[in-house]
Amino acid sequence: MNAKGSSMSDTLGSNASLKLDLLFEGIRYSPALGEAATHSFPNFYPYRFQPGEHDPTGEGKAEIPYLLRTSSGTVVRVKGAAESRWQVSGSQAQGYTLAKDGEASQPIEFAPLPAWMRQTTSDNYPMAQTGLSLHGDMGVINIAPGCEYFLEKIDKRSMRCTFCAYGAPDKRTQNLGQEAGVVSLPQRTFHRIQETLRAALAEEKLRHLYLVGGSMTDWHAEGRRFIEVARAVAQVNDQAVPVTCGSGAIPKEIMDQLHIEGLVQAVCFNLEVWSQPLFEQICPGKHHYVGYDKWIEALEYGVKLWGRERVYTAMVAGIELEPEYNLHWEEAAELALQGAEDLCARGIIPIYSLYWPIGGRDHPEYMSRLKSYFARLMLGYQEIRAKHGLQIWDGFMCRECAYMQMECDMDEEQRQLKQTA
Ligand code: SF4
Repeated sequence: MNAKGSSMSDTLGSNASLKLDLLFEGIRYSPALGEAATHSFPNFYPYRFQPGEHDPTGEGKAEIPYLLRTSSGTVVRVKGAAESRWQVSGSQAQGYTLAKDGEASQPIEFAPLPAWMRQTTSDNYPMAQTGLSLHGDMGVINIAPGCEYFLEKIDKRSMRCTFCAYGAPDKRTQNLGQEAGVVSLPQRTFHRIQETLRAALAEEKLRHLYLVGGSMTDWHAEGRRFIEVARAVAQVNDQAVPVTCGSGAIPKEIMDQLHIEGLVQAVCFNLEVWSQPLFEQICPGKHHYVGYDKWIEALEYGVKLWGRERVYTAMVAGIELEPEYNLHWEEAAELALQGAEDLCARGIIPIYSLYWPIGGRDHPEYMSRLKSYFARLMLGYQEIRAKHGLQIWDGFMCRECAYMQMECDMDEEQRQLKQTA
């Protein structure tokens, strides 16, 4: 693993390499991208036109699709970027293509806008706001998005994770009836998500359900909340779509209960970053209210209950490159790979989601180091998974939903290489 990052993307394989390019470079606006937005699953972030860029909306921003799918089955999150060399052409009627300036185009599709997102529940509430979202063929259920770490300060320091922009209690949490310190959500919230999920399961081919939510300062309470959510989901999950509990780390007795009742088939407790010193700095709430060692113990206990390839931990890959941590990208990649080795040896599978720098830190030199780091990590991590005989369980995640992660694409490339060898 001595190759420098600039040439490493060549060794990732064509699908993973294309995905890496698109994740970093994004796609610039075109009329075709605008048309696609009218019938695609909407992006959370609108396209923002740059000064001097032609803006057909006259509003400085435009809706764009959320996910694109290449003809090889790789799903990628769409990032709008005026300076990108990638552009979409075509139309809904003729089909869409994607091309880098001066290179051949390839057919793509966008994740469609499902009918249920335009419907309402029986009490006339928009299904799009009941707490269900889609990442390709994964249904993400989040009916308690507010994170209590945002409300807590210790020695004037906020307990929220430093990278987190989505857990602040807000209008969403009010609408869902979530209250700080209260385990149970209102019955109307459960009824609405159950109706929405029924409609989505009838319309979509969902292959994974992922339960997620903001953290509570009491991990027992958080665990009890997830049991209630999982029971509500089980009542309408007639197709037995595999369910993953994506809570924070939770106590053993809560895991026992989830397991005994067969409510979830996998767990994913996000450590976010490897090494206790970085965890303490980046996830102060997780460290204060649970603790680094207890987090890893909980993951290990999960392996005992559910077995290998059923226990995951998501990592914010690249957060270590923020200047305050004083790590060169090669050191950061090495540290992350040490973590991958340690976790895999315990039967725990880390999943690396690409970190988007915030606060104007996304200048080209920084992004170039981040890309080198990510490419090296992906290559090294594939070797580690292979060494430990670990694969991503397709009930947990697959190429059809891993929109910011590359593990499944790289494993697929390896499978194809073996078949043709
Ligand atoms: S635990 Fe951290 S990442 Fe999760 S919602 Fe709270 S602040 Fe955000």
